Amino acid sequence: MTKGDAAEVEHHRLVIAGSGIAGLTAAIYAARSNNEPLVLEGTEPGGQLTLTTEVDNYPGFPEGISGPELVNNMKAQAKRFGATVKNRVVKSVDASERPFRIELTSGDVITADAFIAASGASARTLGIPGEDDLMGYGVSTCATCDGAFFRDQEMVVIGGGDAAMEEASFLTKFASKVYLVHRREEFRAEDYWIDRVNEQVEEGEIEILRNTEVTEIHGSPEDGVSHVTMIRHPEGHPSEKLDDPATEKFDFETGAVFLAIGHTPNTAYLEGTGAKMDDAGYLITKDGKGAQQTATDVPGLFGAGDVVDFHYQQAITAGGMGCQAAIDADDYLEELDRENRAKEQVAAPESDD
Ligand SMILES: Cc1cc2nc3c(=O)[nH]c(=O)nc-3n(C[C@H](O)[C@H](O)[C@H](O)COP(=O)(O)OP(=O)(O)OC[C@H]3O[C@@H](n4cnc5c(N)ncnc54)[C@H](O)[C@@H]3O)c2cc1C
Repeated sequence: MTKGDAAEVEHHRLVIAGSGIAGLTAAIYAARSNNEPLVLEGTEPGGQLTLTTEVDNYPGFPEGISGPELVNNMKAQAKRFGATVKNRVVKSVDASERPFRIELTSGDVITADAFIAASGASARTLGIPGEDDLMGYGVSTCATCDGAFFRDQEMVVIGGGDAAMEEASFLTKFASKVYLVHRREEFRAEDYWIDRVNEQVEEGEIEILRNTEVTEIHGSPEDGVSHVTMIRHPEGHPSEKLDDPATEKFDFETGAVFLAIGHTPNTAYLEGTGAKMDDAGYLITKDGKGAQQTATDVPGLFGAGDVVDFHYQQAITAGGMGCQAAIDADDYLEELDRENRAKEQVAAPESDD
């Protein structure tokens, strides 16, 4: 295969970008429909679930299952039915003609009749010491997933938008107390969430630490998070005022730190395809009821999982959308086959018989 040489470009009936729950579920269904999917794993093979040691809410595993084991099982299942999985990253997709022309970061180019974007969303992180080492060991980006592991402990939630408010409110189910840490005085969350959190502040379930930032997370993978270091300045954004004498630094004991500073959908490679995205970059699909719910407004391009869904962001919902996308892609490909057969019949010379 040579770059850009149409004669030698490798062609696939269906290419799936992403090897998280959505991509692998799509691959299982697509392979069983004889669409011979090629899964391109991206830079995070297995997706976000590989960051968690325990998944307790995925149906079918009464004792829970580790994230890596769950995705490895799915990958094996997809391969069993004929899916090909390659460690490649999509750089761009050209949807101006068919088949789709897909450029990989390796420099290779492949083509596909249909394309499923299952490239997920990456949780934003702070880039502070301790964060990477303790991710999955007391540091989490998903309260719904991990809150129950820290029952009866004091928990820290970092953020100032709707997600942070919602997570802080949700975690009161488990926490002995939730500390909501926000770097400014004012929250940018909707009034609904601010009112709800304020009610829980009055009930003593949540305490708000305003004008405060976490600068380091301490602990070990064996024992989890022990405490965090915070800084505070009365006018907010303390990390920008480290030399100001009004900036105070202190340690704070906690068993869990939840980062709720947003997600970035992995859709940059789809720019230029004409696929509609919302202001945050999430892919917009047809949705609603009936067939083709995962279709984008580019025929043959489908979206599934966290790359579309900014709200539920769960393994089971991502898997459900992956299944839908594979079925929608199958319908599209069958229609394409019918059209091609009809064109061939028109083009074929009449028989002498
Ligand atoms: C720490 C943590 C714990 C969690 N725990 C749970 C839990 O217990 N239960 C639960 O239900 N949910 C949990 N979640 C949420 C769950 O992981 C996600 O909802 C789910 O993984 C979304 O699946 P996805 O396939 O849509 O995307 P992702 O898992 O984000 O996968 C995206 C895939 O796309 C690939 N990709 C990205 N860009 C490209 C590209 N340009 N080319 C090719 N591939 C690309 C990536 O490499 C990756 O393989 C957790 C999330 C986190 C972060």
